[in-house]
Amino acid sequence: MSKRPTILVTNDDGIHSPGLKALAGALEEVGELSIIAPDRERSAAGHSLTLHKPLRATEIAPRWYVVDGTPTDCVTLGVMGVLKERPRLVVSGINLGANLGDDITYSGTVSAAVEGTLLGIPAIAISAVEPSQHGLATAAAFAVRLALAVLERGLPRDTLLNVNVPAGEVRGVAVTRQGKRSYNELIVEKMDPRGKTYYWIGGGEPTWELLGGTDYEAVMEGKISITPLHLDLTNYAAAEALKGWETLLA
Ligand code: MN
Repeated sequence: MSKRPTILVTNDDGIHSPGLKALAGALEEVGELSIIAPDRERSAAGHSLTLHKPLRATEIAPRWYVVDGTPTDCVTLGVMGVLKERPRLVVSGINLGANLGDDITYSGTVSAAVEGTLLGIPAIAISAVEPSQHGLATAAAFAVRLALAVLERGLPRDTLLNVNVPAGEVRGVAVTRQGKRSYNELIVEKMDPRGKTYYWIGGGEPTWELLGGTDYEAVMEGKISITPLHLDLTNYAAAEALKGWETLLA
């Protein structure tokens, strides 16, 4: 009998998120899970790592650990410290809301998967555009199918999968590229009761550039979007175009 694969499950909405519970509940059938998640919501934590305070990982139920740190801390602590066995897969989510286009650079959900990739473990980030009970159940069922496929086939080097599950009925699966958001009306400026100005980031409804083949386009069409993300951020065409600068700046 072959051994069930070990899977590290994490998120950025915190240990009590219904998205994490839906994901863990579904992935039970795929492998042996260890759930390591932040003690509270850390959405938009990006890829931050806690270096200036000690961290604790408390086992609150068998194989459920809560960490007083970021999603990235959870994956690092899990792989390097808490777990006796190196996981064969990292799955992060199910995020309560989309992680599309440029927003993924802020995303704690995606960053936890990035950390898995940096540690050489195949990783998936999964988000539900509509985080209703139905939306989470749809995303959880898809996470099972995708996890099985990744465990069987592996992923290209330095690559993680960013998955977004659309609202409503699913009309297929699309492998996509990262979309582009237009950042207008991002800051809300108001006056507090004492007459001082304050700002709130992320006030307006986001708008998106209408580009073909993107994650945004796929979820708008009701498709599950799978964007393979690469950790090498080098713009190779630009590196070629800027070659002349070497002599210019020497
Ligand atoms: Mn989140």
